[in-house]
Amino acid sequence: MDNKSQETKAGQTKATLLIVDDTPTNLAVLSNYLKDSGLRILVARSGEKALERARYVQPDLILLDVMMPGINGFETCRRLKADRLTQDIPVIFMTALAEAKDKVTGFNVGAVDYVTKPLQHEEVLARVSTHLKLQALTRDLQTQNVELQETTTALSKRNRQLQISSQVGQEVTTILDMDELLPRVVSLIQAKFDYYFVGVWLLDKSRQNVVLRAGASGAAPQPTAGLEIPLNQENSAIAWVCRHGQDHLANDVSQAEYYLALESLPDVQSELVLPFRFGQEVIGVLDITSDQLAAFNEEDRLLLQTLADQIAIAIRNARLYRSEKQGRHFAEALVKTGQVISSDLRLGQVPERILSELAGVVPYARGSILVEQDNVLQSIVMRGYPSERAGEELHIFINEGGVFERIRQSSAPLRLDDVTIDPGWQQLEWLPLDYSWLGVPLIAKDQVMGMISLTRRERQAFTPDDATSVRAFAGQAAIALENARLYDEIRTFNDHLEEMVDQRTAELAQAYDTLARLDRKKSDFINITSHELRTPLSVIKGYAQILEIKPAISEDDEVQELVSGLVQGVNRLDQIVGTMLDVVKIETEALEVGHEPTSLLKIIQRLYDRYMDDLTRRQLDLVINGIDHLPTIQANPDLIYKAFNNLIANAIKYTPDGGQIKVSGQALDGNAECPAVEIIISDTGIGIDPEHQIEIFDKFYQTGKVAVHSSGDTKFKGGGPGLGLAITKGIITAHYGQIWVESEGYDESTCPGSHFHVRLPIQQPSDD
Ligand code: ADP
Repeated sequence: MDNKSQETKAGQTKATLLIVDDTPTNLAVLSNYLKDSGLRILVARSGEKALERARYVQPDLILLDVMMPGINGFETCRRLKADRLTQDIPVIFMTALAEAKDKVTGFNVGAVDYVTKPLQHEEVLARVSTHLKLQALTRDLQTQNVELQETTTALSKRNRQLQISSQVGQEVTTILDMDELLPRVVSLIQAKFDYYFVGVWLLDKSRQNVVLRAGASGAAPQPTAGLEIPLNQENSAIAWVCRHGQDHLANDVSQAEYYLALESLPDVQSELVLPFRFGQEVIGVLDITSDQLAAFNEEDRLLLQTLADQIAIAIRNARLYRSEKQGRHFAEALVKTGQVISSDLRLGQVPERILSELAGVVPYARGSILVEQDNVLQSIVMRGYPSERAGEELHIFINEGGVFERIRQSSAPLRLDDVTIDPGWQQLEWLPLDYSWLGVPLIAKDQVMGMISLTRRERQAFTPDDATSVRAFAGQAAIALENARLYDEIRTFNDHLEEMVDQRTAELAQAYDTLARLDRKKSDFINITSHELRTPLSVIKGYAQILEIKPAISEDDEVQELVSGLVQGVNRLDQIVGTMLDVVKIETEALEVGHEPTSLLKIIQRLYDRYMDDLTRRQLDLVINGIDHLPTIQANPDLIYKAFNNLIANAIKYTPDGGQIKVSGQALDGNAECPAVEIIISDTGIGIDPEHQIEIFDKFYQTGKVAVHSSGDTKFKGGGPGLGLAITKGIITAHYGQIWVESEGYDESTCPGSHFHVRLPIQQPSDD
């Protein structure tokens, strides 16, 4: 054995050589030689045996004798090559016939080589070795080829999976609506990868549950959405993944520690559960099952986790979108409700509106607004209650430990997931049982005044978010209710007030009528009286004047004095009657103003002359100032004379002896369109109380008692009929002028004085 054969042997399993020869001596010698060269040798004595052994042993090479009894070598070779099990085994012929024909026949039936008999052992070994090497190389190549094919298949499968995964990922991240997203996710994954069942389960932290939100299965039936698994469920891989935030793979669920079989999925063999993660937080799982054993490998696991991460982002986006949408919807509803309820203040309508707007924000089966009154909760509006009880009100006695009492104490909403297990719950017999209840306090002025009560049929129906929403609503509702209540009170009060005002107005109108009637009567009386007095007065006046100049009388001093007293009296009476007639003229607007140029200076001077004696007698000083600079005005001089006469006479009458009267005037050029003059008659008299400064211009108005007036024209506090200022005002007004008085007050001891202002336009407005 040479070094080379040693080498060949080293570290390798022995190659098996099947020698087929019917001559035992030949066989033994060759076998021994080849055995020594490190080959495993098997022998067969006939073609039939060779076929049998080759099938069974699968030798690496066959040395085949040509000339054999039974089937010869060529036929044996042909049959070997025809059999799938032996066709790849290389065959070397051993032949004594060194003729070309046999060689060709040998190659034709599938041989790889031949050796000639008598055999040269070294040659045989060399050829055998060569062909064994060739055989080994071919096998290697075949194996590599198969491996290459497998890799290619695996790669294209992976490539397809990646494409699908990227497609699914892209598609789901564009969906913002959760109700659309989850069913789409599961059906895409299920359909694209052809899994048995794909489900999205989301964690409900508040209830410590994992809820199937969407599922898709290749076969019906499948579990329905809404199915729940408690988070602490021992044998569930879904619950386990939610708790641990790591994926879980079971390639044979019958052997898995965590696998909770679902009735609707009887054929599950493998399960891969992948967490949906946001940072540290797990929000649910992607549950993928297959009806094949060992359906998932490491790469599937990585690939699907990447997909699950993308889905988690999509869920997060959808949640954000949903909460943003909900927030917007809620804000809109709140604003709308605010508008509606603040624009509708009637108490009867407000609660109804509140409940109907609320239904758009938090869906409920039955809703009511209850207000507390004397330890009883009374409904002011109900929605969704059995129709046969429509129109009835709820009256619920408030119990200690009852739901309202708890709300009142905490001033916070109360949520019952199952009313039947709450010790404080009072179920009204006639109401169908709704398991979930949400109560939210109505708080006005820091006081819980009642509550909004909502129910839903199923258990655990209201979420903390619902409570928050209703609470925001309740805040507005409480204000609206309070406003409506106040509005109702104000309206009732207003109605009452209006009634009172109507009543008073009617009384006033009546009083006014009476006064007007009396006033008319008084004017009629003056009118009639003065007219009736005038005629006999003129007769008396005429006779008296005749009497006065009769010598019989003027010669007798005593009679003379009597007659002149009579004349004085008649004159005064005539003056009064004249004044009364002036009043009537003013009142009936029969005063004829006229448009004559009138000199105020002349009028004042005439008056000065008229009262000269009286002023001297009463030691009064009359100062005239600035009147001479006044322009001529358009007016009726007689009437203007009367007006100033009254003012000067009053100044004399109401100023104690030794006082001063001042008549001053100035032109008012400020208003160019309507130039005017102003005359002020001031005195140092007793003054006028501010509270009477308007009324003194009314007719028959006198301050003080008529009885205490000393009578006479110019005596201090000499009484008059109370018509002077009324006439003056009438005259000034008829000339489109104004008159008013200024005085610090009435005081006979300090005599603050009075200032009568008269403004008269220079031109009278033309009639046309
Ligand atoms: P009478 O005939 O009483 O003078 P008038 O109409 O002229 O009536 O005046 C009305 C009242 O105004 C007078 O009774 C008097 O009390 C008050 N009065 C008028 N002028 C003056 C004055 N210059 N100073 C104080 N009181 C005056």
